[in-house]
Formats: sequence, C-alpha cells, structure tokens
Amino acid sequence: MNRKLLVAGNWKMHGSLTFVREMMADFNTMLPVGINYDVAVFPVYIHLYEVINKKPEQVMCGAQNLSEYDDGAVTGEVSGGMLSDLGCDMVLVGHSERRIKNNEDNTEVAKKFAQALKYGLQPILCVGESAVQRQSEQTFTAVWAQIQAVIDEVGIEKLGRGIIAYEPVWAIGTGETATSEQAQEVHQFIRSQLALNDDTIARRIRILYGGSCKGSNAYELFSMPDVDGGLIGGASLTAQDFMAICQQADILSQGV
Ligand code: PEP
Repeated sequence: MNRKLLVAGNWKMHGSLTFVREMMADFNTMLPVGINYDVAVFPVYIHLYEVINKKPEQVMCGAQNLSEYDDGAVTGEVSGGMLSDLGCDMVLVGHSERRIKNNEDNTEVAKKFAQALKYGLQPILCVGESAVQRQSEQTFTAVWAQIQAVIDEVGIEKLGRGIIAYEPVWAIGTGETATSEQAQEVHQFIRSQLALNDDTIARRIRILYGGSCKGSNAYELFSMPDVDGGLIGGASLTAQDFMAICQQADILSQGV
C-alpha cells in the first residue's frame, strides 16, 4: 500500500509574528504547487491564526496540544473545538516534552486523541522510549503501551484515522538520530502489532520518525519501508533546513 509521505514541522515554543510571516513568505516562494507528499507545521497557539491565513494551500497547520475537555473552567487550555473553528487540520498529542514536563500520562493522551477526532482534527500520536528503556530492552513494551492506551480509549478504527510519530526520547533535540535500521525496526514492530488488530489499518496508517531528522539523513530514514515521513523539531525552524528535508520527500515521492 502506497502511503503519502508527510513532513511535519514542530516549531515548539519558538518564533514570533515576524518569524511566522517570514517563514510563510519563504514557504510560498520555495514550496512548489502539486507536490506528491504532505507538509504540515505546528506553531504555538497564538501563531496559528497567522499561519492559517498566510500559508500556501498545500501546507496543513496544526496545534501542538489540545485540552482533554470540551470547554469549561480549565484556565489556560484550548479545546479541540476551538482549534477546529480556527481552521486547524491537525494536532500533536503526547509529545514526549509534554509527557515529561507536563506529566501527561497514557490515559490523558488517549483522551486528547479522542477529543481531536471528535472535532475533526487529525491527531498525530507521539510515542517513544527513553534512553533507559532502550538500554534495558523495554523499547517495544514502552511504545506499545502508549499505543494500546489509545486503542483502549477509542478503538482500532479511530486510531487508524490518526498518524503515529515514533520519536525516541533520546534522539529528540540531542543531535543523536536513530539509525534508519533502528527506526525501521520499531516502525515495523508497531505495524505488525497493529496488524494483529486490523491488517488494513496497519498497512494504511502513516508512521513518522522524529528525532534529530535533517536534510542530510531524511532520505535514508524516509526510504525505509515503514517510515512515512518525519516530525521535525530543530530543523523546521529555518525555511532552508525544512525545505532540504521536503526535497528528500519530493525525490522519494516521484512517480508514486
Ligand atoms: C520533536 O520535538 O518532535 C523533534 C523531533 O525534535 P528534533 O527534530 O529537534 O529532534
């Protein structure tokens, strides 16, 4: 099954209105129309509106988080309904920085995944093991527990409407990239486990790799059979670096 590559830029808590305007101007100049792969960016909440209004049509926009609640007395949170209303297409759930710094556990992440779907946003479920878990050979167990929690909450059919991003925590923002073989091993594991639930969904769902991905390693990573693009942090913060990754996706998407 041919899965369209996705190059997604997570800008984290970076940028300013000037940064957003310059990035969107560069995207409009540098990103050709009619590309055969998907591109998305994830700015902070307060920059979403600017991105949505200035982005090229072929670029999707998403938030980095959403509330597990519909509305109410939850100061400082933003709901799925509000993001949808603004024009967002997607949302990240369970990024490791939120799991670690905001104590988001698997149950909360699963509720957020459900909220995203409820409001028509495509969730990107971020999963990944810590360095300690990898060293103690707990990678598969840790990653699968994160995915199983979402299946328990929404079921396999709804999981299949989202995207999974495998992001080994030890590779995020460290400059230490998983080798393409290490990435493929985990992606293949995820797909084979999903196939035990539903073979069609397992073959259809996109699984991105994230963790120090850049222009120089994107081709090797994205050419792995079970890697369907990347979630990019640091290298999404300049148009040149991000487009260097998009170019690799473009090469791999020729003739697809
Ligand atoms: C991320 O935070 O999702 C990420 C992959 O970051 P980086 O590319 O900087 O490792």
